[in-house]
Amino acid sequence: EQKAVLVTGCSSGIGLRLAVLLAQDAKKRYHVTATMRDLRKKDKLEQAAGYTLNKTLSIQRLDVCSDESVAECLNNMKDRRVDVLVNNAGVGQIGPIESLSMQDMQKVFETNFFGAVRMIKAVLPDMKKRKSGHIVTMSSVMGLQGIVFNDVYAASKFAMEGFCESLAVQLLKFNVNVSLIEPGPVNTEFEMKLMEEVGKSQFPGADVETVRYFKEVYLPASHEIFTTLGQSPDTVAKATMQVIGMRLPRLRYQTNPLYTPLVALKYADESGSLSVRTFYNLLFNFGPLFHLSMNLIKCITCNCFRRGAVSPS
Ligand code: NAD
Repeated sequence: EQKAVLVTGCSSGIGLRLAVLLAQDAKKRYHVTATMRDLRKKDKLEQAAGYTLNKTLSIQRLDVCSDESVAECLNNMKDRRVDVLVNNAGVGQIGPIESLSMQDMQKVFETNFFGAVRMIKAVLPDMKKRKSGHIVTMSSVMGLQGIVFNDVYAASKFAMEGFCESLAVQLLKFNVNVSLIEPGPVNTEFEMKLMEEVGKSQFPGADVETVRYFKEVYLPASHEIFTTLGQSPDTVAKATMQVIGMRLPRLRYQTNPLYTPLVALKYADESGSLSVRTFYNLLFNFGPLFHLSMNLIKCITCNCFRRGAVSPS
């Protein structure tokens, strides 16, 4: 029997690729409800969906920040049935916290955390009743390791990690699986959207030195990380599809073997000093050598740290 998969945030990036890959499954294992906040943006998805449109893929409106929108979407689904929920919708935020309003920070949590929680709450009763289901959430390596100038974004992903880790224990009793996908940098519109916002900001409230670190040290380093270590949305979507197809999925999956060692620092030293100092050195001391050090990381890790990362077949 076909599994009903609901994916949030499918107008672009990982969500779009994942919805299409699942819909194109050769064994036709899935019927995908690909959702997005604004249906005016559905052209790209429709085009990518091709022959699967209105067959194994249907498009629905869904804003993860609205109770009404979530209810409406579920009511439009056959028997309101969701076998696999993919919480993919998310927004980024970078910059010195002094220049971000409380309201803007709360918006990140409204989408990345409460949006996913709203979705889980909506599908959970039926999954428990049926004693089957899979809740998959697009977290990030930043859900495990904080990154400079990504304070609130990282916190929102940490929040999701804590939520899912807690829930996973209870849900095991109901045969409902919980999985977190933790990509490193992914080359989607995500980075571009962040750059656009940063470009507009005058950084009110932040001191000159902090703004200089952000603009002249962090931004080039971050760009470098996206170019050297970045994955394609397709790679992350393939890894996620693999996880969805598993009979006994794990709680956590990192998708980028090049990034795994950076996260491992945290587990190597429980005091936290090792990771704080390593990230400090990468950012402030390697300066002009940043490019070299990123390539070194790539070179050292490409063979040794594959264990534990999902690699698409
Ligand atoms: P993206 O910006 O292309 O996709 C995010 C999608 O979420 C967009 O289509 C956006 O419209 C949608 N969205 C935002 N608010 C929404 C709302 N209220 N309701 C419904 N949809 C909403 O970027 P992406 O890289 O494909 O991001 C997908 C997920 O992957 C996010 O959760 C992001 O945090 C995570 N992620 C991204 C990266 C990266 O580097 N790009 C790395 C790790 C994790």
